[in-house]
Amino acid sequence: IPDIQSILKQLGIASLNPSYSTGSKWSPATDGKQIDSMSPVDGKKIASVYTASEQEYNHVITTAQSAFKHWSKVPAPKRGEIVRQFGDALRKNKEALGTLVSYEMGKSLQEGFGEVQEMIDICDFAVGLSRQLYGLTMHSERPSHRMYEQWHPLGVVGIISAFNFPVAVWSWNAALAWVCGNVCVWKPSEKTPLTAIACQHIIQEVFEANDIHEGVSCLVTGDRHIGELMSNDKRVDLVSATGSTRMGKAVAAAVAGRLGKSLLELGGNNAIIISKDADLDMSLIGAVFGAVGTAGQRCTTTRRLIIHESVYENFKAKLVKAYGQLRIGNPLDQHNHVGPLIDTDAVNAYLSSIEKCKAEGGKFVVEGGVLSGDAYSSGCYVKPCIAEVENHYEIVQHETFAPILYLIKYKELDEAIALQNGVPQGLSSAIMTLNLREAEQFLSAQGSDCGIANVNIGTSGAEIGGAFGGEKETGGGRESGSDAWRNYMRRQTNTINYSTTLPLAQGIKFDL
Ligand code: NAD
Repeated sequence: IPDIQSILKQLGIASLNPSYSTGSKWSPATDGKQIDSMSPVDGKKIASVYTASEQEYNHVITTAQSAFKHWSKVPAPKRGEIVRQFGDALRKNKEALGTLVSYEMGKSLQEGFGEVQEMIDICDFAVGLSRQLYGLTMHSERPSHRMYEQWHPLGVVGIISAFNFPVAVWSWNAALAWVCGNVCVWKPSEKTPLTAIACQHIIQEVFEANDIHEGVSCLVTGDRHIGELMSNDKRVDLVSATGSTRMGKAVAAAVAGRLGKSLLELGGNNAIIISKDADLDMSLIGAVFGAVGTAGQRCTTTRRLIIHESVYENFKAKLVKAYGQLRIGNPLDQHNHVGPLIDTDAVNAYLSSIEKCKAEGGKFVVEGGVLSGDAYSSGCYVKPCIAEVENHYEIVQHETFAPILYLIKYKELDEAIALQNGVPQGLSSAIMTLNLREAEQFLSAQGSDCGIANVNIGTSGAEIGGAFGGEKETGGGRESGSDAWRNYMRRQTNTINYSTTLPLAQGIKFDL
């Protein structure tokens, strides 16, 4: 366990216990409800922050609205330059922030550093993007007329984030939203408030050094109540929410009720099809990393393996052997493969899913269970497990955020694709095959119905260059690369008449 107090000092946040920040200004001592940040690594309290009151929330939003008037006037490439400096500041703080991510959330140190690297990558992407916010030009049907489209910023972007990617998801949204000219108000997960405070502190130093108006980056700590205020608030022009499908349905309904814009990144139920023509050694690495990495707490975690009957027993034996070699323990110790779940509620959800699976007929080939003893004193360490199931089981249709892997057998590829698609969620999917016909069928319109479909790569571990997100109950949103930036802007079509007459469209005559 690292000296976490010295890491908090290094990050400049050791003495902070705020409820909000509008940039350089942190909230004064407050009598709001206290949120204790507990590490799932050793069960110890790291620090406390406070829940913002409604009044404090309102103060943040009005500060952000006023900042928008200034920030939206800064030329996009200049906004990109600020984001470039943010990326550099993250490079300097990578080790400290990555360590805090690992300790507060419980993911491995490698993954903590990887998450900060993802933030750096999206900053680099956003810097280039700041000179490429392209609109199309069109030919007008009228003489001496010009038509084109422009993309303008939206205003205040509210970001609601989940515990499992406590910092990267914010940066995916914020870096793009900023270069597009928006201001951001972040409501992080109540389970990981400290990493959010550290990020806000890092960006605040960059903004201060560049004399950027107060309110371009704001943070409001608190529980779902703050998220509800945001979803119902007309002043929040876009609500970008990452989390469970349950949360997404509530946010979507509230935002739609005021005809606002939402961007939803919700739960997955991701499968890998292991074909008879798969490279089984490669498939094994993809499947095991996908299923147990981050202790099964990635939205892209591999939850189902759909395996061809001819390789099923062989692959099952390989999996059982590999699971026997997994080292579970302190995620900051780089020898361990699997760290803890986020809290004991998550442990209970894991145990109850195992019970439900057994009750429906699931047969466990690797048994689960909670680990006890000094090394597991937080009570959050569980054994990754594997069950043979049928796809239609209610529990298999549901995303349990824990390392439970389901095995399903198939005969024909059509059947495997139907099984892969036969869940309510549509985030990530993969096929392991060396057969070109199978790969292309899987990627075709008749293939995977997910936002992400991979060949000979598992379901987890996306790069920032592509648009990230999924269909159906995953919410339909796309973030990060490709043209996801358009979500943070409004399109305006402009027609300019430089003739001396006023011809109407469609040849309509209107003479006075
Ligand atoms: P969660 O839904 O419990 O909470 C996520 C955030 O939403 C938190 O900040 C929470 O305070 C807030 N919230 C909860 N209810 C709300 C409501 N009614 N209105 C407004 N805000 C509300 O999710 P979690 O347990 O933190 O995260 C795990 C979930 O997130 C999993 O389902 C995972 O698949 C999903 N996730 C999806 C993606 C993606 O990109 N698709 C990425 C990461 C996580």
